[in-house]
Amino acid sequence: WFPDVDKIWFNGELVKWEDAQIHVLSHGVAYGSGVFEGLRCYNTIDGPRTFRVKEHIERWRDSAKQLRMTIPFSDEELIDGINQTILENNLDSCYIRPLSFFGYHSLGVHPLDCPVDVVIATWPWENYLGADAKEKGVRCCFSPWIRVHSQMVPSAAKATGLYIGSMLARVDAIDKGFDEALMLDATGNVAEACTENIFVVKDGVIATPGLDSSILPGITRKSIIELARDLGYTVEVRSIARGEVYSANEVFLTGSAAEIKPVREVDSREIGTGKPGPITKHLMDEFSAIVRGENPKYAKWLDPVTSP
Ligand code: PMP
Repeated sequence: WFPDVDKIWFNGELVKWEDAQIHVLSHGVAYGSGVFEGLRCYNTIDGPRTFRVKEHIERWRDSAKQLRMTIPFSDEELIDGINQTILENNLDSCYIRPLSFFGYHSLGVHPLDCPVDVVIATWPWENYLGADAKEKGVRCCFSPWIRVHSQMVPSAAKATGLYIGSMLARVDAIDKGFDEALMLDATGNVAEACTENIFVVKDGVIATPGLDSSILPGITRKSIIELARDLGYTVEVRSIARGEVYSANEVFLTGSAAEIKPVREVDSREIGTGKPGPITKHLMDEFSAIVRGENPKYAKWLDPVTSP
């Protein structure tokens, strides 16, 4: 995999994509001891803007803290790193992947003498979950793998090792001919999709699981809750039973990579009419206007991509 991207920010320097190398016995490789982010830069009517970059940096640090990792750069340095990487690669709209992990020192499971390596990569990433997913909706199945419980690992941390669960669920779903898997939590309620949060709509009311379902607290989720409430919808944050997904009028997924994706089918049951529903479409339209920079009310979510 070699996207048409020249540079990666690696420990404070922009290096050639192919030169961003680590030792094979880095702690993060052996034990999945890393934390990361995923966010987007949009080509708005005012030029490239990152979406909620400060919240992503904050969640990155919160994730690191849960692993007792200190990211050895200030927030300003990390945001400058993101901006420099976008500018250096001449991208005006892209996905951004900040990542930090325990590096190469020793392979005891205790990592605290290991350096912390920090990476920021950017690349174009359209059509997440399929080219026609926005128009037609995605087909999901419930995975036999459940979302890790917050008592097993800090499930609210966006930690690399936790993604084994997402990987297994996604691979099974694709094998069975679906686009994405939904995961239950350890109590049997709905948690989220492999790399997105989930919302269900019934009789005009929107609902999404809370942190007690061991979800990743998604920044798109938070944005959609705020947006939907501002638009006058009722949004409940509560436990959701599996059956509520099957009988919902609408289901949609949210994530930085996926943005908002309607779900048209779950476990071979059509959701609503089997087409993206009106509330999902309303939120998608409003969200697209926001990320094009066309809604001044949410200009606070967009930051210019400037060099220091
Ligand atoms: N859950 C998981 C497991 C994820 O990987 C993601 C993607 N970061 C999300 C939810 C959605 O979070 P966000 O909206 O912050 O991208």
